[in-house]
Amino acid sequence: QQDSDSSVPKETAPPGVNPNIPHSARIYDYWLGGKDNFAVDRAVGEAMIQAIPGMRYMAGENRKFVHRAARDLVAKEGIRQFLDVGTGIPTSPNLHEVAQQVAPETRVVYVDNDPIVLVHARALMRSSAEGRSEYISADIRDPRSILDDPILTDTLDLTKPVGLTLIAILMLIADEDDPWGMVAELRDAMPSGSCLAITHPTADFNPDEVGQAVAAATGAGMTLVPRTEEAVARLFGDWELLEPGLVPVSGWRPDSQVDDPQAAYYWAGVARKP
Ligand code: SAH
Repeated sequence: QQDSDSSVPKETAPPGVNPNIPHSARIYDYWLGGKDNFAVDRAVGEAMIQAIPGMRYMAGENRKFVHRAARDLVAKEGIRQFLDVGTGIPTSPNLHEVAQQVAPETRVVYVDNDPIVLVHARALMRSSAEGRSEYISADIRDPRSILDDPILTDTLDLTKPVGLTLIAILMLIADEDDPWGMVAELRDAMPSGSCLAITHPTADFNPDEVGQAVAAATGAGMTLVPRTEEAVARLFGDWELLEPGLVPVSGWRPDSQVDDPQAAYYWAGVARKP
């Protein structure tokens, strides 16, 4: 337990939160302009910005995809319940706010394994009166623990279509830990008509910049695995990709003209279970 380490008096951390080890949730919060990050997170975050000058833009584009995908899943696919794994520190708007703007009765279960997200979970649970929004502290590497959690089974009806959202999380899982197997287990628990939305960073558009960013992250002890189009496509299994398919994140049903869709180095797609 280094949490109460007296050698770091400058920044106080809530119980369970380690301010001495960089965490993905806090680095991402830093890129988005949030305040829930520590010096170690900012150092890695800045090193990654040195590698990828467009990093903050990319994080913003990833969030905008969440908004467009959530909106369309509710409005066009009839989804009224979501399971969001790797939620991150609350930001504005959160997924349930976007979804409930279209259909207030929408229910959302958020999942993250980082104690700092748990600290802020209350902000994720400010649901509309008609809907519901809950938080589970769990690890995607143990899908069963998520699916069997009483909060999930009490909030979601797994006989009705679910919107499963895995947004910018799977790059934190090494190949050896088999992210494809984890996602398959989650997919298999969902009924026909369910939808899976994924964003995943890739080196496909700019191998040099992404290679340097990965070096900065792994040098700081983190796992960060950009994946190819083919490797990301396999995460969807036999589910059918909705239009426009697996595309650069900015190019997924953009609200306005995008000059260079490949300027944000993420693949993004939404697929429906047959
Ligand atoms: N989905 C959000 C946040 C992405 S940051 C968005 O795109 O805006 C990645 C998040 O995944 C972090 O909050 C991190 O804590 C979480 N995460 C990383 N590994 C995880 C794991 N094994 N199980 C659950 N959550 C994890």
